[in-house]
Amino acid sequence: MTASTTPHGPIYDRVALVGIGLIGSSIARAVRRGRLAKHVACWTRRPETRDTTRKLGIVDSVHDTLAEAVKDADLVMLCAPIGANADIAQAMAAHLKPGATISDVGSVKQAVIRDVGPHVPEGVHFIPGHPVAGTEHSGPESGFAELFERRWCILTPPPGTDQASVDRLTKFWQAMGSKVEIMDAQHHDRVLAITSHLPHLIAYTIVGTVTDLEDHLRREAADAGTMIERAEIVKFSAGGFRDFTRIAASDPIMWRDIFLNNREAVLEMMGRLSEDLAALQRAIRWGEGEKLEAWFRRTREIRRGVLDAGQAGTFAATEPEKK
Ligand code: NAP
Repeated sequence: MTASTTPHGPIYDRVALVGIGLIGSSIARAVRRGRLAKHVACWTRRPETRDTTRKLGIVDSVHDTLAEAVKDADLVMLCAPIGANADIAQAMAAHLKPGATISDVGSVKQAVIRDVGPHVPEGVHFIPGHPVAGTEHSGPESGFAELFERRWCILTPPPGTDQASVDRLTKFWQAMGSKVEIMDAQHHDRVLAITSHLPHLIAYTIVGTVTDLEDHLRREAADAGTMIERAEIVKFSAGGFRDFTRIAASDPIMWRDIFLNNREAVLEMMGRLSEDLAALQRAIRWGEGEKLEAWFRRTREIRRGVLDAGQAGTFAATEPEKK
């Protein structure tokens, strides 16, 4: 039994999950496993998802209204896509308990502070957070209690946030198995732009490019009176492409919101990537084998560093190799 699988005892009396997909349902399961709250309430937008959550039996109460779910909660955790936060924060503000903590799990932090911050009532503590853990799956069925084990959770409390509330939330994430880091929101967004957002963008690009290319080759072959087997991409996908298709299967709404809400940092990192791509293009064109080899040796070392840090078997978000 690891520290996080040992029942811990309540850290909050009542936790309210607003949105219950992969991340919200993983929190629900981890809270239940560790007995980290006396009661977990939840609200989610669609009646179908509320029914599924009731059937799964992973929370104590599923509410038809946001107001009922957040009422009396000591911790309200926003687990919907980033683009939904402003409306949710506005709608729940009048129903929050004084002294409660609002947190979230969004993959971008400055936008959450921008959207939620103005609606946080006096006497309620707002501590944005981001568990750097996930998979390409969505919905309440896809969550699992171990998702946060040995993964980072980054908290970005604005200056002046009540320290006791930060400590309590830190303890909550640690009890779910996470390592917690406190960081400035702007720094978070730049770091994640390069470690998570850019790799996803590359995957979305390459899968689209390869698919278009295959269509083009098939049209050319048909014009020439020959046939190319339809499933060539699938057939030869072990050659590196398969990992990209997994990353590119991530939720379209979530990633739309991430790129729109971390625009500046992502554009900056794309600029740097373009320069490096151009340098590699030139090295290939001019047959500069030593340059290429030095580049690939350096990146191999980086992979070893990732393995040593225990963060492998994952993509930008972090997923165990097998579930
Ligand atoms: P998910 O599985 O797709 O679940 C999303 C939840 O949000 C569902 O309960 C859905 O409700 C609700 N929702 C969707 N659109 C909404 C809207 N417009 N208004 C209100 N509720 C809405 O998503 P997830 O993967 O758990 O991601 C949730 C958050 O976690 C995102 O902010 C994301 O940035 C962050 N995150 C994700 C990962 C990852 O790898 N997936 C990793 C780290 C952080 P209904 O089903 O009822 O519509």
